[in-house]
Order: sequence, then structure tokens, then C-alpha cells
Amino acid sequence: MTRIESLLSSLQPGVGYLIVTPVNRRYLTGFPSSLGYLLLGGGEALLFMDGRYFEAASKAAAPPVSVVQTKQLSEQLAEAAGRMGLSTVFTETEITVRTLEELRRLLPGRQVEASQSLTDRLEDMRTVKTPDEAQFIQRAQGMAEAAFLDILNMIRPGVAEADIALELDYRMRKAGAEDLAFETIAVAGANASLPHGVPGAYKVQAGDFVVMDFGAVCGGYRSDMTRTVAVGYADEEMRRVYDTVLAAQEAALAVLRPGLSCAEGDRAARSVIEKAGYGDCFSHSTGHGVGLEIHEKPNLSGRSQAVLEAGQVVTVEPGIYLPGKCGVRIEDMVYLTAEGCENLTKAPKELLIV
Ligand code: ZN
Ligand code: ZN
Repeated sequence: MTRIESLLSSLQPGVGYLIVTPVNRRYLTGFPSSLGYLLLGGGEALLFMDGRYFEAASKAAAPPVSVVQTKQLSEQLAEAAGRMGLSTVFTETEITVRTLEELRRLLPGRQVEASQSLTDRLEDMRTVKTPDEAQFIQRAQGMAEAAFLDILNMIRPGVAEADIALELDYRMRKAGAEDLAFETIAVAGANASLPHGVPGAYKVQAGDFVVMDFGAVCGGYRSDMTRTVAVGYADEEMRRVYDTVLAAQEAALAVLRPGLSCAEGDRAARSVIEKAGYGDCFSHSTGHGVGLEIHEKPNLSGRSQAVLEAGQVVTVEPGIYLPGKCGVRIEDMVYLTAEGCENLTKAPKELLIV
């Protein structure tokens, strides 16, 4: 059963889904488009595409999807909803208030609501990756790693954070990335104590840690990795911090498997950092799912009730941040298999001094 068929088969008579977000539209149809509507109901799946996408979408579409060229959208939607016998149409909760109002105007006389259960259902479907999806993520990861290994020799005293970030971006694109998975982070010295710092004019100095967090996109799927390197030398405290983060990460990687709760996964890493006395310096959750979006379910957090499932791709990214001094984060991505997890990140993790 295709993803769309499983959604169609669960719909009550009179109820339809209107998929509006690009990421879910792509996930369900396999066709990327920045604008369009996927209407599901009455056993039918209609993909409304404007003239820019119509031809390509028609070629790419597979049953049960029929592609309709958008002309008079309000008439076309109303006609289709009438034929499907829809009195209620649910859409995703990520849409804006303006879009919801627009949809209500397009479908007069029908109840149009943003539905948390539809959103949850799509997110739950997306969290478990097929081998093909995992392959795209793995390929994106390969591009990011190639870029990382390429730029190591440019990190030296006097180079600005922003230039390191730019070089990573360029090398990822050169390696075949269709886009960047998110805005690259390259922060050094005291700036590295900000987990999501913005690369700026600061010039790297000897004795700095440089934290680089970056990812590529392949086939729509994203990768996510972080490496931290020391410039020139690492003093005793820097080594202690680095070794602690690495031990925390290895501890989580050793236990991740289907059936483990996300909270337990988070605890495995966090307890190592707490025991070393840096508990207050690890201010974010241990990891997150990755896929068509950079942050997906599950959330590897102490507050999560979720349990890991085979097929999920999650990051493991503990960090220690010492305000005004330095920061270290090490992030790998793993694919949960039947028995445990496969690490999709191959780049070295021992402390690199460049
Ligand atoms: Zn990251
Ligand atoms: Zn991440």
C-alpha cells in the first residue's frame, strides 16, 4: 500500500485531507514543488499543480495520484470536494493563519480545519525511513564529510569563522549537494560556547576550539554532523571537555536500538557529562530525527515519551559549553536497524589539532 493509499483507507466518508506543506506533498507524491495542493478523499488523490510544475508532475505521478493543472483553483477545488462528497477538510497545523483563511475561502460551505492528528500522523509516517530514504541521507552525509575533510587544512590562526563556513558550503555544493541542509555553523574560541552561534568576523586563534555543524541535501533528504577541532594546541581543560563529550556520545551510540525510550537515550549521554561535573553545561537535548526536514521526530530528549523504532534516523550530539571560554559538540547520525544502530557518519572523532 502506498503512503497515500494508507491515508485514503483511513478516511471516514465525508472527510478529506488537503495537504498544503511542500515537505508533506513531496513525501506523499515523491514530487518536489514549492506550491500546490494535494486533495485526498472519496478514494481519490488529486494533485493540483500550476503551469510551472504540471508537465513534470504528470510524468512523475503514480497511481492513485491524478495531476490536475490549476486554472480556477476555487472552482476546481469546490468541484472536486463536491464529487468526493466532503463536508470536512483537514489540513496540516504548520500552515499560517492566512493560508487557513484562504483555504476556507476556496472551499465555502465546508468545514476546513487544521488538524493536529493529521500532522502527527504524517510526522509519524515520516520518522521511519525506507532503505531508499536512508540511502539519500547517507549520500548527503558523504558530501558533508568530503567537504569537512577538504577544509581542515584551511583552519589556522587568522582565518575568520565566516570564511570557514563559506568554504564548507562551497565544498558541499561542489561534492554534489543540491542545497545546504541548514545554515552552516562555524564558531571558534569563546563564540563556540553558543550552541547555535552565527559565524562572524572573529579570526581563529591558537588554543581555540572550532565547532562546525553542517549538512547537505540529496534527493530532498538532509544530513547533519558536527565536528570540533583544536587550533595549534589543546590545554588540559580543553582535552578533558573534549574527552567527556566523546565518551558521552559513545555511551549513547552504544545503547541506541529499537525499543529504547528517547529519554533513556538522552540519559546515556547526559549521565557521562554530569558525572564529569559539566551537567549544567549541556543545555540541549541529545539528538533529533532527520529526513526531509532537519528536525523531525523523534526528539532524543529527557522529556520525550517516545520509543525508538527501526528505520529512524537520529543524531547523537552531546556538547559542553563553557560560557566565555569554549565549546565542544560532536554529532553523528545513525540509522536504527533491527538490532541496534548503524553509524552513517564516518569522519574521525579523535581530537584533531590543526
Ligand atoms: Zn547539527
Ligand atoms: Zn543536529
